[in-house]
Amino acid sequence: MESKRTTVRDLRRHNRSALLSKLFFDGPLSRHELSSLTGLSAATVSNVTGELIEERLIVEAGLIDSDGGRPRVLLRVDPHYGHVIGIDVGETGVKVELFDLAMTALATVDHPLPSVRPDPATVVAQLASGLREVIAQTGVDEASIIGVGIGVPGAVEQGAAGADLVRVHAPTIGWDAVPFGRLLRDAGITLPLYFENGAKTQGQAEMWFGAGRGCGHAVIALLGSGVGAAVITDGNTYRGATSSAGEWGHTTIAYGGRACRCGAKGCLEAYVGAESILDRYRQARGGRAVSGADEHASLDALIAAAGRSKTAARVLQETAGYLGAGIANLINLFNPERIVLGGWAGLALGTKLLPDIRAAAQEHAMRHA
Ligand SMILES: [Zn+2]
Repeated sequence: MESKRTTVRDLRRHNRSALLSKLFFDGPLSRHELSSLTGLSAATVSNVTGELIEERLIVEAGLIDSDGGRPRVLLRVDPHYGHVIGIDVGETGVKVELFDLAMTALATVDHPLPSVRPDPATVVAQLASGLREVIAQTGVDEASIIGVGIGVPGAVEQGAAGADLVRVHAPTIGWDAVPFGRLLRDAGITLPLYFENGAKTQGQAEMWFGAGRGCGHAVIALLGSGVGAAVITDGNTYRGATSSAGEWGHTTIAYGGRACRCGAKGCLEAYVGAESILDRYRQARGGRAVSGADEHASLDALIAAAGRSKTAARVLQETAGYLGAGIANLINLFNPERIVLGGWAGLALGTKLLPDIRAAAQEHAMRHA
């Protein structure tokens, strides 16, 4: 009997999860639409949504006309049922945002980090104070916070016993097996925590809400100061044996080439990361740096200079070539339906260079892929 009870419970859980996910990502929807989108019977949809309404996880959200019949009631996840917090530990700062369940940002806190190689204790202090600030600003009850998702640089080794045993390995900024979960607990944070590599979290966000929607196989390629990627196969992020898969920026594009922050030579990041593009431009101009208060401004200045400067145009053409070849490697390895070019530097370069990047990718990739 025990195994039968488990089966029934699993099925119920599965149905609840399927309907809630549909409503979260694609709501508001009618019961009729839920049934055709999930393949669950009308009776099951009616039962389960009844339960979810009773628990106040979902609410009615108006009516929609049906062809000739009675108007249908629309359902959606109740935005006020709970809250979630997202944290991005980036190269230049820590951003903390508190959302309701309609993903409306209710409070945002940005803390700059003093160094490009911040020590973990500084990051933990900024995380903990950012968390307290968004909670104080919104006045929400801590018990209503369902979870805190934290994107960090480097590889995240998920602990078998949950977030408290998570370890972060980020050699480019000098982090070696940093126990972030435990450090945040020591700083007095008791909320449920979920850690993931920052490129993987951005990739997941593109798949849920952005340019990757509707794709089963995709690669989200991210260019900032550094370079990363999230590889999605069959709808799931590919992690590998110890969660370090997707380090596209540190695949070799030129054997024995330029020195990379990771310690190796010739990595893709050493050619197409914003820091490296600016460095290549400086070298091409005999050591004269491009103007700009920070990397964003300098890269914009370089892109703007391409119209009048042959050197700037050549550096950007080469960048498109390296990036296209790197993308061709992704195409040949993973056979994705779509590659999304993102990250602040990716967006800046894409505006100007997308046709050249496409051409270079096509030239280097296997034709049928
Ligand atoms: Zn590298």
